[in-house]
Amino acid sequence: MPKVYSPSQTVIFSECPFKWYTQCVLRYSHESGQTEPQRLGQAVASAMEYFNNVWKDSGVKPSGTDVIAAALSKAEIPELVDSPAYSAMRKVLTKHLSAEPTPDSWLPIAVETPRPDHGNCRADVVYQTPSGRVVRDYKYTTSCESRYVVGRLQGYGDHPQRYHYAWSEDASLFQIVLISGQPVKVHEQVWSCDPADVTRWLMSQQVKWAVMEQMERGEIAPWLSDLHSTKYGPCSLYDWCQNHKGDHTLLPMLGYVQRPKSDATTSL
Ligand code: SF4
Repeated sequence: MPKVYSPSQTVIFSECPFKWYTQCVLRYSHESGQTEPQRLGQAVASAMEYFNNVWKDSGVKPSGTDVIAAALSKAEIPELVDSPAYSAMRKVLTKHLSAEPTPDSWLPIAVETPRPDHGNCRADVVYQTPSGRVVRDYKYTTSCESRYVVGRLQGYGDHPQRYHYAWSEDASLFQIVLISGQPVKVHEQVWSCDPADVTRWLMSQQVKWAVMEQMERGEIAPWLSDLHSTKYGPCSLYDWCQNHKGDHTLLPMLGYVQRPKSDATTSL
């Protein structure tokens, strides 16, 4: 049985095995750390994690000002209090928590629970509903004009995360909740997870995971991608990889730090 890798690691591998090897096996990341949008997204995730854990532990959907205040306290980023993007995040989160739309008949049964046998993936929430299990993932965007919403949601629906969570959580539906700071809006979309599609996805991933494991063991070399950019822009390692020959000994001088080994599975 080949090792299983997380959805995020597998996507990076699919983009470029050399990039995946550098970031996930050698565990190098830039010392500049998370960007402001990433920190805001993490804050939203923490607030929703708190909310759903209260629901899971009590068995009753929480409501009222106390739970909203407690959830918002999980989303505090003191060094960003003067940022307009931070204010927008607090505004939309407050609005969302004040009228949280999940049906009362749904019950969270797992919240950010790692699945060691499934690449340590952690779905944001798994709900038991009267018609089966639903996996929900929260996404936060500082801004998303209405004309881009459909395409953005479709991108999440096409992401392998959908099938990975269907497989790990035995779920029949995958839901994205896209929370937007500008304009203040929350979008939801649900996709079914056809078992035949999940099987097809798994066969494909298992081929990749076997190769990833061979690379991790040093049995084969990580190959270079032929393309050095994605739809989001140039590869984040472009300068080091293309202008400095991909020499790993140079990474510390270029501002990269090596994370401790225990960090590798939790961050990616
Ligand atoms: S620059 Fe290209 S080959 Fe190098 S790590 Fe990035 S995607 Fe891979």
